This record gives sequence, C-alpha cells and structure tokens, in this order.
Amino acid sequence: GSTPSLLSAPDGALAAALARVPTTPALLVAGRFVTETSQPRLTRQSPAHGVTVGDYPQADRALVEDAIAAARAAFDTGPWPKMTGAERARLLHRVADLIERDAEILATLDCLEVGKPLTQARAEIAGAADIWRYAAGLARDLHGESYATLGANKLGVVLRDPIGVVTMITPWNFPLLIVSQKLPFALAAGCTALVKPSEVTPGSTLHLGRLLMEAGLPMGVANILVGTGPEVGAPLAEDGRVDMISFTGSTRVGQHLMAVAARDLKKVSMELGGKNPQILFPDGDRDAALDAILFGGFFNAGECCNAGSRLIVHRAIAEEVLKELAARAATVPVGDPLHPDTRVGAIITADHLQKIGAAVSEAQAGGARVLVGGGALKAGPDQLYFAPTLLADVRPDMAAARDEIFGPVLSVLTFESAEEAIALTNSTAYGLSAGVWSRDFDTCLTVGRGVRAGTVWMNTFMDGAPELPFGGYRASGLGRELGRRAVEDYTEEKTLHLHTGPRTGWWLPRA
Ligand code: NAD
Repeated sequence: GSTPSLLSAPDGALAAALARVPTTPALLVAGRFVTETSQPRLTRQSPAHGVTVGDYPQADRALVEDAIAAARAAFDTGPWPKMTGAERARLLHRVADLIERDAEILATLDCLEVGKPLTQARAEIAGAADIWRYAAGLARDLHGESYATLGANKLGVVLRDPIGVVTMITPWNFPLLIVSQKLPFALAAGCTALVKPSEVTPGSTLHLGRLLMEAGLPMGVANILVGTGPEVGAPLAEDGRVDMISFTGSTRVGQHLMAVAARDLKKVSMELGGKNPQILFPDGDRDAALDAILFGGFFNAGECCNAGSRLIVHRAIAEEVLKELAARAATVPVGDPLHPDTRVGAIITADHLQKIGAAVSEAQAGGARVLVGGGALKAGPDQLYFAPTLLADVRPDMAAARDEIFGPVLSVLTFESAEEAIALTNSTAYGLSAGVWSRDFDTCLTVGRGVRAGTVWMNTFMDGAPELPFGGYRASGLGRELGRRAVEDYTEEKTLHLHTGPRTGWWLPRA
C-alpha cells in the first residue's frame, strides 16, 4: 500500500496547547480537592508528541474508602436526592455553561491525552455541554405512573426513586463525552456518583470535577478518582455500599464487572465493543457512501466503539468501489492533532499500536490483501501513528471480520443478497450499530429490521443526538444511554398501593 505523509503542527501550537492545560489537577473526594496521596503519581504523555500532558495523583485505599463513604452519606442524608427537579436542573445547566466557558481547556486535554484532532475534540466538548442541558430538562420531567382503574377505593402509584450510589467507569477514547452520557442523567435522577475515568486520559474528567464544585454541587454528590482498573475501579465496583455500576469499555472488562455485580445483585449498565458494518448496495449514493465509509472506519483513528470497521459491499460493484475507496483512503489527512486539517490523529499507546499492527499481519497471513496502509507511520519514537488501512478479501471466519481491532483498519467483505448482508452483519458476537446505503426504501427497511444492532443508520453514519437512545445488542452491552428514558435507568420503581375506607375479607373476595 501507499504511505501518507504526516501533517505537522503549526509553529508554537504545542506550546500554546500545553499552556492551556490546568497546572494542579486534583481528585474530588467528599467535596475536597486532593492533590497529594500515598500512591505514586501517574503521568500521561501525548501520543502525538511524547511530551508530558498530565501528572496526576492516584487514589489510595483510604481515599477510595472516603469517596465511597461520602457518596453513600450524600445519598442517605444529604440534600441532593430531596431537591426538586427544578433545583437539580438549574445546577446541571450551570455545569453546561461552565463546560462551554472552559471548552478550550477541556478540548485541549482530550486532544493531547487521546491524540485526537483538536477540531474534533472541540465538537465533542460542545456535544457534551448539550447533553448536560438535555439531562437538565429530564430532571424536571422524571415521573412515574398512576392507576385509577383498580377500584373506587384503590389507587396504584408507581414512583421513580433514585437508585442510590452509582459507580461510573469510563474508557479513554471519548473522555468527556462518555462521562457526560452517564453523570448528568444519574444526577438528574437524584443519585450520587463515584467516577473513575481511564487512567490513560483522566485530565478532562478531573477538570469537570472543578466545574461541578464551582456550579455548587453539594459535597460528596460526585467523587472523581484516578487509578488503574484493578487498583481503583475494582474496589469502587465491588463495594456493597454501591447500588449500580455504569460501565463503558471493553467487552472483557464488562463481563468481569457483571460477574462482580452479581455478588450483591447490583444493577449494571454496559456500553461495550462493536464490529459495525456499513452495507453498500449497488443503488446507494456512491459518493456519499464512500465518504461515510472512510469517516466511519477512520474517525478517532478507528478507536471508537461505533467505528464502521467492516464494509460489506455488493459483489457486483466491489471491484470499482475498492478502487475508488483506496484512492480516497490514501488522501485522508493523518498527523498532528493540533493541525487544523488533521482528520486521523495518533494511536493511544505504543502497546495498542503494536496490537493493531499484529491484527493486520494476522489478516494478511490468512489471505487478506492490504490495499492501502497496513502499518505504523514512522515519525519520532514517541509519535504513534497508524496508516488508515483497507483490508480486502477478508472472509467471514477471519479475526479481521469478527474482532474489534480498535484502530484505523477497515475490513472489506462482499455479499450478493440482502439476506446474506444481514446474516454477515449478525455473524459477530457484537450488535452495536450498522449502516445501510441504498436508495430503495424496501432494501433499507429490510436490512434495518433484520440486523441485530442497537442503532441502524440509513444513508448516513455515526449520527447521534441526546434525544436518541444509544446502546448495543448482545456482546455490545446492556441497557441504553441517552434518550428521554435515560434518567429512568438510574432509578428504582416503587409501587404504592393506596387504599381508602374499610378493608375486610382478607383471605377471599367477599361473597
Ligand atoms: P477497558 O475495558 O480496558 O477499560 C475501561 C475502563 O475500565 C478503564 O477506566 C479501566 O481502568 C477500567 N477497568 C479495567 N479493568 C477493570 C477492573 N478489573 N475493574 C474495574 N475497572 C476496570 O477499555 P478501554 O481500552 O479504555 O476502551 C476501549 C473499549 O471501550 C473498546 O472495547 C470500545 O469498544 C469500548 N467502548 C464502548 C463504547 C460504547 O458506548 N459502547 C464507547 C467507547 C468505548
């Protein structure tokens, strides 16, 4: 394959970005900012530049204990769950305002820690603020049901009670966006939270902690702890004082956390991996589809649960589509996330870069053909880039067709009938999303209804809106985030039986 050259940052851009990074990142525990702990500090280098972006305190066991106790007390005896929806909404709106005020700080942190384009990170921060506003609206609309149909002297009322203390564990690919798909909805419901961002990208979540306190969130309602999964995530998930685990990350860790939750029947919400196809029919809008296929495959360097990592193209057009796709793929701008034209930035860690390469080599060994890319792009030793890669001749039984690679690698398979395309789509363990490209309504609807995925895009890809539920079938997860019922996920239902007047004849209906 051909090798694109890397865009480099404009002069001074890195220094200007580093100057925006907060100087004293702090954990948030029981309303206090914590900058010193007994644990070694955790540093994060930008995967695009090799420079240190963050130097973070890691939570120790005592802090984990303090945070759990604080979240429990804030729920059991604090003001938060008892406030009106309007009061909670006002606070969530204030957080949204502060996210917008500090958008450049938050975007810079996610850009430098993940290695994603700054232009993209800015859009994610704006999207996150929008979600906080949407959740604020829901805080006022949370309600149950009533039944007046049970008899003249009976009323059934179903309340929505906040579930309690929620542990939230998030991955590294969309740091502020993913915590914003959980925390504002839990807060809207009246819950309290223990948040553990990925140890690789904690910067923006910690800054959010500053904003929560500035907005006036009561002490202990949200606690934010940095640390690894085993050291900090595990005790936060295992503790008996926690009522629910909300997790976004790999299917492997999600399975483990479900088993942990089973010990005391905690509720779980799981947003896991995907191997999402875009299905292209001969009558699809070719130009739009090819753009969407490249975007879907290479957005966020493919480090995206929703990545369109499979192209399933009709056999009759496969050859010409691949030719055109290869030509366009070679022109996707790769490089420094601070360059305004960059669309594909750096890969999260050296370890992960190596794994992406190994997955491509394995596919080649199994008979797949690399049309474009295929390996790491050599820059400096601390600059981690992988070339956007097109893999043709991928067979359904190959790992490249079934497993999440989580890099800019697009596997191409072919089909002849809609039934075959649906069967191929459903042939992996995942079921997060799928796209279908056809100008025929019947085709779109047949595929849309036949695929087992939480989201199906028709003649578009990777659209999202706070109004629309998002989540996966099967190994892609459990439960839905976003949408008007998202707040309900953080509640328990309580049924009240209200009775008036005398009640006799307990054992049998009165004759
Ligand atoms: P990961 O599963 O390795 O880690 C996710 C989080 O879990 C991190 O905070 C990590 O520290 C923590 N963790 C790890 N082991 C733990 C343990 N034993 N106990 C408690 N916590 C633990 O995932 P990642 O590499 O950060 O992210 C990539 C994965 O996330 C991909 O599989 C991707 O598909 C998935 N993802 C899914 C969605 C979605 O909404 N469906 C969104 C983004 C990412």
